[in-house]
Amino acid sequence: MAEQTESAPGAQQFIPPQADTIDELRAAAANCQGCELYRDASQTVFGRGDESARVVFVGEQPGDMEDQKGLPFVGPAGRLLRKAVDDAGIDPGHIFLTNAVKHFRFELRGKRRIHQSPDRVHITACRPWLVAEFAQLRPEVVVVLGATAAKALLGPAFRVTRQRGELLPWPASAQHPEDFTRVPVNSAGKVADAPAAQLLATIHPSAVLRADDQDKAYEGLVADLTVAARALAG
Ligand code: SF4
Repeated sequence: MAEQTESAPGAQQFIPPQADTIDELRAAAANCQGCELYRDASQTVFGRGDESARVVFVGEQPGDMEDQKGLPFVGPAGRLLRKAVDDAGIDPGHIFLTNAVKHFRFELRGKRRIHQSPDRVHITACRPWLVAEFAQLRPEVVVVLGATAAKALLGPAFRVTRQRGELLPWPASAQHPEDFTRVPVNSAGKVADAPAAQLLATIHPSAVLRADDQDKAYEGLVADLTVAARALAG
């Protein structure tokens, strides 16, 4: 079981300075020891999907199934998300899916691995991978799914319940906008202005699966994603 830590070295030192592609980042992330979560999890679960996607979805962390398969959003929540994306009018074949934290954090109860939300130390440690993914992908809209992803990008004061479904200027609304305003564009270290991406927060699809009224929660998710779909169409 992963112990609680106060600080972690962070992922930055594991990111190749001249990484030019998502594949290079993914390969490097496989060896990340930026926080203690790598010790108990099976493997790093890096983002996947269409690398020219105009919209990138950011979840919390891989779940049990994702940890075993090494792929994000392959469990029931992932299936529900793809359906909601489709129902909102976004082609699920042209999205990129990733997580704020790239290793599974869990607590062992007997033989069962029970999901444990990542702490701020893990979110902060893993954030360089997210920044590096954005720098390669240059999305037009970033959709944050649930409180952990929202905190990773927007800071601890952000409340999904209050501002869900609202298009926010990004990176201006990010917690550390300076991380996103200048992004590397080539392996020579050249940087350019960040793409004019917007950010939208909504609930995590697993919250729909846990809701008392799943239909209503699902409709809410689709309604939020429809705002993102309109932004892409506009
Ligand atoms: S959770 Fe992130 S920072 Fe921590 S070891 Fe895994 S990839 Fe590295």
